[in-house]
Amino acid sequence: MKYISTRGQAPELNFEEVLLAGLASDGGLYVPKEMPKFDKQEIASWAGLSYAELAFKIISPFVAGCISDAELTVMIDETYAGFDHSAVAPLKELSTNEWVLELFHGPTLAFKDFALQLLGRLMDHVLQKRGEKLVILGATSGDTGSAAIEGCRHSECIDIFIMHPHNRVSEVQRRQMTCIKGDNVHNIAISGNFDDCQEMVKASFADQGFLNGRKLGAVNSINWARIMSQIVYYFSASIALGGPHREVSFSVPTGNFGDIFAGYLAKQMGLPVKQLIVATNSNDILHRAIANNDMSKSSLEHTLSPSMDIMVSSNFERLLFDLHDRDGSAVDELLTRFKTEGVSLDDKQIAALQAQFSSASVNDAETCQTIADIAAETGYLLDPHTAIGVRAARANNLDKAVPMIVLSTAHPVKFPDAIVEAGLQPPALPAHLSDLFEREEAYDVIANDLASVQQYMVEKLA
Ligand SMILES: *Cc1c(COP(=O)(O)O)cnc(C)c1O
Repeated sequence: MKYISTRGQAPELNFEEVLLAGLASDGGLYVPKEMPKFDKQEIASWAGLSYAELAFKIISPFVAGCISDAELTVMIDETYAGFDHSAVAPLKELSTNEWVLELFHGPTLAFKDFALQLLGRLMDHVLQKRGEKLVILGATSGDTGSAAIEGCRHSECIDIFIMHPHNRVSEVQRRQMTCIKGDNVHNIAISGNFDDCQEMVKASFADQGFLNGRKLGAVNSINWARIMSQIVYYFSASIALGGPHREVSFSVPTGNFGDIFAGYLAKQMGLPVKQLIVATNSNDILHRAIANNDMSKSSLEHTLSPSMDIMVSSNFERLLFDLHDRDGSAVDELLTRFKTEGVSLDDKQIAALQAQFSSASVNDAETCQTIADIAAETGYLLDPHTAIGVRAARANNLDKAVPMIVLSTAHPVKFPDAIVEAGLQPPALPAHLSDLFEREEAYDVIANDLASVQQYMVEKLA
């Protein structure tokens, strides 16, 4: 499998190179040159498989030529054995044909574990084979950080630096990152917001000279391997509800557009999907883009769903690439203009976008109302991100006969503020995290300034 950049200039790479490179050298994101496709008969034949077996079927074409089947099997088995539910990604029925796909049974209680526990293993494997070392630099709106640190902490080939926006992640989220000890683990709190952190990651990739020859790797969803791993649960959920013989719909709480993009790819690969619903909080640029053809930045708001407090969604670039018939220079031109002004798509592009996605934006008050309503109706406690997905699903559902699957991206225990605002009791921490508030934290607060961050990294690596 070969990969190409969404900006059209960087060289084609194989999986191993894409895994280690993160961002392409032309500032673009890597995507498969051609998507693997499965026919209905083949998808139907996967009905009895375990989650790990299904993951192997879907992931193996993407890594072909780089990682052997035997090695991949071991890494996948180890990854999903670390989840605390036998189904790995279980479905719960909220009401008739309305389902929640629980993606929070991994070690750090958010869906990020699906990709990052595997990514850490893949990277470590490839680095060991090559006898190389890598410096990981990542930005987190809260959940990526802990999952990435958890996935990389045991690697002798990796130093990991994670930036989070200071005072803008929940205390549980922060402690899940800062209480992990390891000589190779470095937590940075940036006096800024998530977009500032993400921008510094991109700038550091574009110019890696400050590392004096050491190589930078990415754990953000700019890394293709993350998207790839997330395609699996769209298949598992569909198959569990009668797919591929029947269509299903998905509603996805969205920030960086990685998770929903994996759903779009599942559809490209042959999964019958009726609707893909982009659910955003008040940071609604994606909703405005889809509903009104308006891609203009507004100021970032801090909401009760902090993992979606993102204005510039990295992975939307991967979709824009398809909407521009894979013309990298057109994508580059659009995104260069987007840095300084609002942009829009042409008639054909917006029609194609609206044919694939519907969308809704849900504010904090509506989020809390949804948490309270669903708890009263069903006794089920939603986290605020998932609540946004449920509300967006109900607002956009075109066909009640088609199962609507809402991706539950985090466990409610990570976001007690929203639960309390909804007038409910936050749940207790699971056993493996029960002493989280007694553990010692380690992190440094750094100004929202690229040079300061890079100097900090150089000192820590010395
Ligand atoms: C990361 C995250 C999201 C957003 O996912 P994207 O892939 O960035 O769109 C939603 N909910 C939770 C809980 C998250 O951690």
